[in-house]
Amino acid sequence: MDVGGTSVRAGVVDEQGALLDTTRVGTPSDEGALEDAISGVVEELRNRHDVAAAGLAVAGFVGTDRRTVMFAPHLAWRAAPVAERIAKRVGLPVTLEHDANAATLAEHRFGAARGAKVAALVAVGTGIGAGLLLDGEIYRGAHGVAPELGHLTVVRGGRPCPCGKYGCWERYCSGTALAATAIELLAKHPGRSTVLAREAAGDPGSVTGRRVAGAARDGDPIAQLAMTELSRWLGEGLALVADVFDPEVMVVAGGVSESSPLFLDEAREHYAAAITGSRHRPLARIRTAQLGDDAAIVGAATLAREAAAR
Ligand SMILES: [Zn+2]
Repeated sequence: MDVGGTSVRAGVVDEQGALLDTTRVGTPSDEGALEDAISGVVEELRNRHDVAAAGLAVAGFVGTDRRTVMFAPHLAWRAAPVAERIAKRVGLPVTLEHDANAATLAEHRFGAARGAKVAALVAVGTGIGAGLLLDGEIYRGAHGVAPELGHLTVVRGGRPCPCGKYGCWERYCSGTALAATAIELLAKHPGRSTVLAREAAGDPGSVTGRRVAGAARDGDPIAQLAMTELSRWLGEGLALVADVFDPEVMVVAGGVSESSPLFLDEAREHYAAAITGSRHRPLARIRTAQLGDDAAIVGAATLAREAAAR
């Protein structure tokens, strides 16, 4: 299951990482109702398949015991023993993992980071979600909450972030950031845009990351400038990540990665220019994710299967 702020998505996954069946339900705001909803989707899928274990991927901090959700900004759980509660309800072994970690594991077992010993995943969507694999294992840090790559400060005193800081990487490199950059550029260069300016004049809220990517594809100069900015921030941010972890491969995932032909080659150039000693070291391959939206479900199920087999 992938337990997010808007929906609980669930799937049945086989040993090869194939998704055999899926279902989803809206995320209730109350704790008990959320756990009811989760056991509901498990029961629904068990009616159609022989299920041996259940894995939960959660958008939030998971405790070092990996049985507890410490904090999830868009979910009701606060220091809640979620794995035990769900296991009791459904009568199956239950594992718990951070959603980006689960997605990273899935890309490692079945997708773009297959076979890599050291890999990083950067999911560029509304914000940035990130996961790290060191020696083929998910790296969770000393307290279970690593890595928060999206909140690395890339511009001191820069754009405000909902996390309370300023200038976080995800404020410059995400779908949200793409829209913010386009709106700034429209104000700076009145009359240069065709498609985007018309839309923004009608309703500024309509300028979303997705729309900017679409306008860039249609040749809108301001949208293309905003994409160029995104490529730069992505490349420079990935260089920071590579300076710390020296990965073999970095996987760019998330909603924005669907537009990767518009920015990925340019991001690779910025990455190569920004990394330390680039001419004297092998550079990590930068690849787009292969499992799309399903990666967290596949990863959670794989962790559940591996834990049950132990
Ligand atoms: Zn932040």
